Amino acid sequence: MSEIRGGGSSMRCWRVRRPGPIDGGPLDPERAPVPEPAPGELTVRVLACGVCRTDLHVAEGDLPVRRTGVVPGHEVVGEVVAIGQGAEVAGFGVGDRVGVAWLRHTCGQCKFCLRGAENLCPYSAYTGWDADGGYAEFACVPAAYALRLPAGYTDADTAPLLCAGIIGYRALLRASVPSGGRLGIYGFGGSAHIAAQVAAARGAEVHVMTRDPAARELATALGAASVQGAADPPPVLLDSAILFAPVGDLVPPALAALDRGGILALAGIHLSDIPALNYQRHLFQEREIRSVTANTRADAREFLAFAGEHRIHLTTHGYSLDMADRALADLAHGRFAGAAVLLP
Ligand SMILES: [Zn+2]
Ligand SMILES: [Zn+2]
Repeated sequence: MSEIRGGGSSMRCWRVRRPGPIDGGPLDPERAPVPEPAPGELTVRVLACGVCRTDLHVAEGDLPVRRTGVVPGHEVVGEVVAIGQGAEVAGFGVGDRVGVAWLRHTCGQCKFCLRGAENLCPYSAYTGWDADGGYAEFACVPAAYALRLPAGYTDADTAPLLCAGIIGYRALLRASVPSGGRLGIYGFGGSAHIAAQVAAARGAEVHVMTRDPAARELATALGAASVQGAADPPPVLLDSAILFAPVGDLVPPALAALDRGGILALAGIHLSDIPALNYQRHLFQEREIRSVTANTRADAREFLAFAGEHRIHLTTHGYSLDMADRALADLAHGRFAGAAVLLP
């Protein structure tokens, strides 16, 4: 491997030591050796790392532990500082700016991988869950899963594109918004505020339902056709809807707001229980519910290309790496609108 320029032998990072409520302090700040790239991997210096709700689910134990003491963080903007052996790293050089996102391994051989649905691969692995992520000064990524980044965005603005943006994009695809159609967005955090702009750029009329006053203001500023409370009916029937809030209680009102043939996509990796549905009120007339599970690398590349061609306005809140626990607590308690980003 090549030398790590300017790095020390150890680095600062945060590890999930006691999965549980965020106010109980599930993460510890620690020092760890700077990770060396295994064959096929890159080591990056973390320039920015987004704070995603999934990190909160990992920290709070909503997701089962897959790696004890994992370093969370899967929206990493990094600069390549070391390159492992092997053919997979061809095309990457020290100094390259790359993205490290949630998906970091698939088998390439199962029926899902073979039909272009690697997001469903049973052997998949994820950054900040199965492997250490970006709540750290350095991180490793398999070169085959490192993403080329769009120009024209700061590091802080690029970070939320890497999960909030990509997952929001896949949710939009899953919601099959018809051309010129009406899209309802339930919950308006990091992912939603990006997806709303992508949908609008593609000609959709966007209606936003959220309980948070700051998020309602942001939705209005970003040009939403209407903005109302979390479970309020929108002023028009919707062709498609996306539930970003991890709240199963919002599924019935979101289905009730759909027009005939409408589709509701559930964007979260974790959702509280969905209450009983009424067939006539919630599903008949060919309304559909679709879950969204991770993303393929093709989704990521498509979305990042879109971001390079269109100006997406990011609302971010910067925290120093030392404040990662505070950033997660602020996310849990809805203390900011938009997306939090850790900066070194
Ligand atoms: Zn597979
Ligand atoms: Zn995420």
